[in-house]
Amino acid sequence: MSEVLETLILGSGPAGYTAAIYAARANLNPVLLAGPQPGGQLTITNDVENYPGFPKGIMGPEMMEMFKEQAARFGTEVLEELGTEVDLKQRPFTVKTASDQTFRTKTLIISTGATALYLGLENEQKLQGRGVSACATCDGFFFKGKKVYVVGGGDSACEEATFLTKYASEVKMVVRRDELRASKIMQDRAKNHPKVDILWEQNVTDVFGVDDGKVTGLELTHSRTGEKQKVDADGLFLAIGHKPNTAMFEGMLDMDETGYIKTVPGRTATNIEGVFAAGDCQDSYYRQAVTAAGTGCMAAIEVEKFLEAQGH
Ligand code: NDP
Repeated sequence: MSEVLETLILGSGPAGYTAAIYAARANLNPVLLAGPQPGGQLTITNDVENYPGFPKGIMGPEMMEMFKEQAARFGTEVLEELGTEVDLKQRPFTVKTASDQTFRTKTLIISTGATALYLGLENEQKLQGRGVSACATCDGFFFKGKKVYVVGGGDSACEEATFLTKYASEVKMVVRRDELRASKIMQDRAKNHPKVDILWEQNVTDVFGVDDGKVTGLELTHSRTGEKQKVDADGLFLAIGHKPNTAMFEGMLDMDETGYIKTVPGRTATNIEGVFAAGDCQDSYYRQAVTAAGTGCMAAIEVEKFLEAQGH
């Protein structure tokens, strides 16, 4: 593409689409590359109950369709493309995609989000999609009447455990400490559910499967005593947090030790002028759809002011 864009947005979660809505309404004709998971993490979420304006809650995928529609309505060009390479040393910046397209842009909004973490066990990878999953909403349906384990003690783990009770006959939460990290309301939902049982101070240290690849059991190890036990299981769901999708920018943008892009406090500006970061790729603390949307809005406004200051 020879045209130089005013702004290019990487990622299609709440941050990316909100940035697109604001940039499009500012007549910046944004192009948004949707990335590997169009709609972002909310497309693999269940009910979204905490996004203001939806008093009865809304399904994550439906909400992201609405975000997309609103961004498109003001003229955002949404492309099902994956950015694979960026050059931020020269202006205009360039972004190459998996389909070998090259975009040139005066400003860049990075809203590439974050991805679920796994435990790092060898068998966990082999059995992924065959009983091992990081998305109860996507895969819960396959565990009707089955016994499943959920690893983690945060809001995600409680949410996934509670959700899985719709299908599974037994849901065991494997929590490495003697307390949960989750908010009180999410804890109560999991703890008070008759199908959910919490295994305290336990870790999943191996996953077993039969030859045709299905999960059959787990090895659990006690956090303090190191005592091991084998248990029967049909499914293993991971809900142990996320890592930011920022590998593409390593060595170019300032990041913290876990890979979250550093921004100027209270803003979305990165260490490179004209490059802005919004949403979960720069937020290890709040990680909410509404905060992601808020920073997406900030990024678009900062782009507008940056271009104005440059005389564009
Ligand atoms: P969190 O980082 O909050 O929690 C991760 C959990 O996994 C912790 O309990 C942690 O244990 C545990 N854990 C991490 N690594 C391992 C490991 N290797 N082995 C065993 N356990 C491990 O992540 P979440 O995804 O739960 O939540 C992220 C954010 O999203 C939070 O801000 C949360 O509030 C929000 N959220 C909100 C929801 C809602 O409101 N509906 C739903 C889901 C998430 P430990 O506590 O010991 O560190």
